Amino acid sequence: MDVTAKLLRLFNVDKQLRGLQSRLGSAEKFLGDQNKEISSIDTKRAGLEAQLKQHTAQAADYEGEMARLDAKMATIRKQMDEAQTNKEYKAFLTEINTFKADRDLLETKALELMTKSDEVKKQLAELGGKRSEREQVQKVAAGERDQRFKEIETRLNELKAERAKLAADVPADVMQMFQRLLDQRGDEAMGPIEIQDRKRHEYTCGVCMMSLPIDSVSGLLSSGKLTRCKSCECVLYLEEESKKAMQPAAAKR
Ligand SMILES: [Zn+2]
Repeated sequence: MDVTAKLLRLFNVDKQLRGLQSRLGSAEKFLGDQNKEISSIDTKRAGLEAQLKQHTAQAADYEGEMARLDAKMATIRKQMDEAQTNKEYKAFLTEINTFKADRDLLETKALELMTKSDEVKKQLAELGGKRSEREQVQKVAAGERDQRFKEIETRLNELKAERAKLAADVPADVMQMFQRLLDQRGDEAMGPIEIQDRKRHEYTCGVCMMSLPIDSVSGLLSSGKLTRCKSCECVLYLEEESKKAMQPAAAKR
């Protein structure tokens, strides 16, 4: 078997392998998207929880301050009851009114904070709902990925073993070049020679459609010599049908 035939054999197995892996790849990508979505929800949630914690601490501060003012006002009220003169009474009243104004301000702030906290809690509840919905999808996605993998695992291993065997049969330097080509071009690492007009020696590359001068492909046509398209660099081969079509010419030689 010539080197081109060996490469073609390997190329076909590799194509099947890539096909199988891409089926698994799409299931994996879908699962990955769900995981990403969940972690983005978790990040948002952590941010909101931190906000809520800050609000709660601030509210506790306001409440402490209000209690302190309440205690002060209670003391002053007691003193007012015991006031001896009108002037003394008025002085206490002014003091109380100042504290009361301070307290009202704190109360307004505390109420604003409570409204903000309620809004944050609402957002957290919404996120919680979104997260559990997304978790459901994630579960399904993980199940599908596992199922896909189970379906193809045996075939995948068979193909991998076959590929390794076929690759070992290709000269190392050729294999190195071909592997690079496979990595870069996948399904276009090899291309069939297309016969446009056999009598006039008109051939084109099946990948890039550029014409192939006869002297550049004659070695491949006669003996399967390793030949690459000058334009797109794919490894050229002759399909069975084309081989048949070429046979009379070869027999004449
Ligand atoms: Zn080409």
